[in-house]
This record gives sequence, C-alpha cells and structure tokens, in this order.
Amino acid sequence: MAAPPLPTPDHDSQPFWDGAKAGRLSAQRCPNCGRFRWPPAEYCPHCHHHGGDWVSLPGTGVVQSFVIVHRAFDPGFEDKVPYAVAHIALDGADGVAIIGNVLTDPVDAIAIGQRVAVEFVDSGPISMPRFKPI
Ligand SMILES: [Zn+2]
Repeated sequence: MAAPPLPTPDHDSQPFWDGAKAGRLSAQRCPNCGRFRWPPAEYCPHCHHHGGDWVSLPGTGVVQSFVIVHRAFDPGFEDKVPYAVAHIALDGADGVAIIGNVLTDPVDAIAIGQRVAVEFVDSGPISMPRFKPI
C-alpha cells in the first residue's frame, strides 16, 4: 500500500514543521505590525516588512468549513476514506486558518463551529497536525 504524500518544507515553512516535530503548533507574526500571516512568507502581506517571528499557539481552534472526502485523490489515501478535511481558525493567531484533518467518529459528526485541538502524527521526517473535537 502506498504511503500518503507528505509536505515538503521550504525556507518559509521550515519553522512551522520544526515546531510540529517538537509537538508545537505555531504561526508566523510580523515583528513590525504584529499581525499574523498564513501561509508563512518572507514578507508581511500587510505592511511589507521583511521577516517574521514564530509564535507558539495553544493548539486549539474552530472548524470554519469542511469537506468529507469519499474518493482518494492519491493511492496513499485509499485506506483512509472517508475522512474530513477542514479549514480551522487557530486560537491565538487572529486571521490564521489552516487546512487539516479532523478525526471524528463517525466522520460526518464534524460540524462548523466545532472546537478542536491538535495532535501530531509522526510520519518519519514530518509530524502532521491533525485535530480532534474537544
Ligand atoms: Zn507587518
């Protein structure tokens, strides 16, 4: 069975993945204007300041929207369908919402407005954030 494809960290996202490997959810914040940004980037999209600080977050958030995937788009996910993929607004990082799996049982128990907490699944070089209802 094929393994699911993993993200490939780049210069901008490497600190996020380093934090995930250490069990920490984090987001990038501009040291000039103080606003968070996602995805990670070299320049602030709000004030164009170069660089950013990485802030550890509580690891909780709210489901803003979701889809339930019934057909695997990659052979690595064939044994995982159906599964939920959600847009999750992160606590402690105003304006940041990331995409991630939400693990509910049954899968259609997921709901918009549901509060969730992160957990990390070690997948070799990457620790993937996943979310569970709280
Ligand atoms: Zn800024």
